[in-house]
Amino acid sequence: MSPIEQVTNVFDTILVLDFGSQYSHLITRRLREFNVYAEMLPCTQKISELGWKPKGVILSGGPYSVYAEDAPHVDHDVFKLDVPILGICYGMQELAWINGKQVARGEKREYGPAELNVVDTTTPLFKGVDHSTVWMSHGDKLHGLPTGFKVIATSNNSPFCGIAHESEAIYGIQFHPEVTHSTQGKTLLKNFAVDICKASQNWTMENFIDTEIKRIRELVGPTAEVIGAVSGGVDSTVAAKLMTEAIGDRFHAILVDNGVLRLNEAATVKKTLGDGLGINLTVVDASEEFLTKLKGITDPEKKRKIIGNTFIHVFEREAAKIQPKGGEEIEFLLQGTLYPDVIESISFKGPSQTIKTHHNVGGLLEDMKLKLIEPLRELFKDEVRHLGELLGIPHDLVWRHPFPGPGIAIRVLGEVTKEQVEIARKADYIYIEEIKKAGLYNKISQAFACLLPVKSVGVMGDQRTYEQVIALRAIETTDFMTADWFPFEHDFLKRVAARIVNEVDGVARVTYDITSKPPATVEWE
Ligand code: GLN
Repeated sequence: MSPIEQVTNVFDTILVLDFGSQYSHLITRRLREFNVYAEMLPCTQKISELGWKPKGVILSGGPYSVYAEDAPHVDHDVFKLDVPILGICYGMQELAWINGKQVARGEKREYGPAELNVVDTTTPLFKGVDHSTVWMSHGDKLHGLPTGFKVIATSNNSPFCGIAHESEAIYGIQFHPEVTHSTQGKTLLKNFAVDICKASQNWTMENFIDTEIKRIRELVGPTAEVIGAVSGGVDSTVAAKLMTEAIGDRFHAILVDNGVLRLNEAATVKKTLGDGLGINLTVVDASEEFLTKLKGITDPEKKRKIIGNTFIHVFEREAAKIQPKGGEEIEFLLQGTLYPDVIESISFKGPSQTIKTHHNVGGLLEDMKLKLIEPLRELFKDEVRHLGELLGIPHDLVWRHPFPGPGIAIRVLGEVTKEQVEIARKADYIYIEEIKKAGLYNKISQAFACLLPVKSVGVMGDQRTYEQVIALRAIETTDFMTADWFPFEHDFLKRVAARIVNEVDGVARVTYDITSKPPATVEWE
């Protein structure tokens, strides 16, 4: 059984077929917010190959025009499922196209808010939604009613703002209920999923934990062993804790100390994950090995590659040392993949583009002949955090800022040496400590210090100094695609700068990075 089938076996599921809209994943997100489970698949999904039966289907928006030659179209077997269907924007145009082809370019594009005017107030879809603001984003229009349909709502610019089939539960709406600008959009989606599709609202984290633990036990069986890398970050910790709950010490966590972790990180992870959370953890100190390989390297891409490759090498070596109790081979590799990665790999990118497959551990799997186990693959980041809290993972760890795989190696600009790493580490520690003290940690999405490979003149105790520069970065963002720098108070910056120069040997000057993303990236390298 595929991972999707295993979950849809337990939870009533709404299938979202993605036509490539930038909002598609939000549909899934909104449904889950009122505890209805939803899965998104590309619009090209063959219904006969689905393997499970959804409670309802949503056809998403998309950038194409249904009448264009290369436009994507839904598998008509979707109508044979005999479940309610809701078409959103392109999805509605697709329904209209199938039932009479009355779609064409409108006189003008409509982008932004509109007022919804419900014509048929008996329609369950619009319960509590009339006269609310809805968000429009389209250039094409319905030019007449599709065969068998009636109008259920209008807006100033759209006489066919909402349509419904005369006798079957098939609906189409021109606007986007999944974006928050549609003020009652969530109510509408709930009307569809809960009232019309009769999906039960049992998607809770508590239920998820039970189901997932059961699933892991079945998958792994009574004797097999699993390994997985932990990093001290939230995803790998939550995944590791879940494995421990499911199979105890048959799960082996490995923390590779690559010499470029945060200050005291290896010891902290050992204490929190090993002692605190009872995870069967081995810490491997490979710092010398990494630092030796990084010697003389200044190019950021090369640093990343060296760290990635050395990691795989060390991990495999350590994994080979683990002797499973039953004398069996290690069979599975744990991977903390989240739903956005899965979506990224399956979402529909258009007729001319191939759909990417998800390979984030390709090398390891092939070399070690391991099967992949991904207990978080259905979850969004905030769901993982919620899960982490329920599993008793300390609050600070659950809400930790992201940390890059190559770690401090890409925060030491230029050559990475033990001494340089130590300077960057200490400065970062002070900075984060002050941020926490000021109660700002949760307001900031990511903050760190990096060490610049330039020297600058200073004066300390009447002595001329000639030492390096620390740059501080702090950003606010919701998705890390775009970001703005965080507006600290002057006093805060003054305090941090004074502490860093005083407490960290080798630093004579501190600057604050005031570049947004774009044009800058979050990390400096
Ligand atoms: N491309 C279609 C249009 O312009 C659908 C847009 C959408 O789904 N947001 O009307």
